[in-house]
Amino acid sequence: MGGTFDPVHHGHLVAASEVAARFHLDEVIFVPTGEPWQKGDKVVSPREDRYLMTVIATASNPQFSVSRIDIDRDGPTYTIDTLRELHALEPDAELFFITGADALSQIFTWRGAEEQFALAHFIGVTRPGHRLHDPGLPQGRVSLVEVPALAISSTDCRERVARGEPVWYLVPDGVVRYINKRRLYRDGD
Ligand code: ATP
Ligand code: MG
Repeated sequence: MGGTFDPVHHGHLVAASEVAARFHLDEVIFVPTGEPWQKGDKVVSPREDRYLMTVIATASNPQFSVSRIDIDRDGPTYTIDTLRELHALEPDAELFFITGADALSQIFTWRGAEEQFALAHFIGVTRPGHRLHDPGLPQGRVSLVEVPALAISSTDCRERVARGEPVWYLVPDGVVRYINKRRLYRDGD
């Protein structure tokens, strides 16, 4: 499951858990992006902070792990590079790439679109407030999955912290504490 995870929240975790159950996955590897090219104009928290929050959020689940492959690669993150590296690490594994419906609708703008479909099965999870319009997705390589609706986004979490509002129960407890410890998302100090 790829994402910026700035911060990781319960929407991500529920989506991963639901897809793992539905597709009988052995494990879900969370892959925080290095430099998210779709978010080029926005300020993103340091990659080590996003990585550590993802580790904190997933550590107790034996089926979840976190990979550094994208944060350790220089330059913008492209999903095709992520998939090539995962495939090289585990040539026999059947790969599924989990992403949100919003990202999936831009799938054909991704670099190396054709090769990505050969490397992985794509799963788009529904998310509140994002309507799926099918842009003509390749047959059999993309599935859409309804996950229990959690109207949580990282953007909203960051804005709440900046306004001094709570993010308890939107993100895991350890992530709340990490945000406070590192004073993330507090504009103007
Ligand atoms: P931001 O608000 O900064 O864009 P985000 O909440 O969308 O952050 P990302 O790290 O960009 O989080 O998300 C990774 C993937 O998880 C995206 O493809 C996104 O669509 C999906 N996702 C995020 N929140 C939810 C949610 N509440 N339910 C289902 N999918 C989600
Ligand atoms: Mg997003």
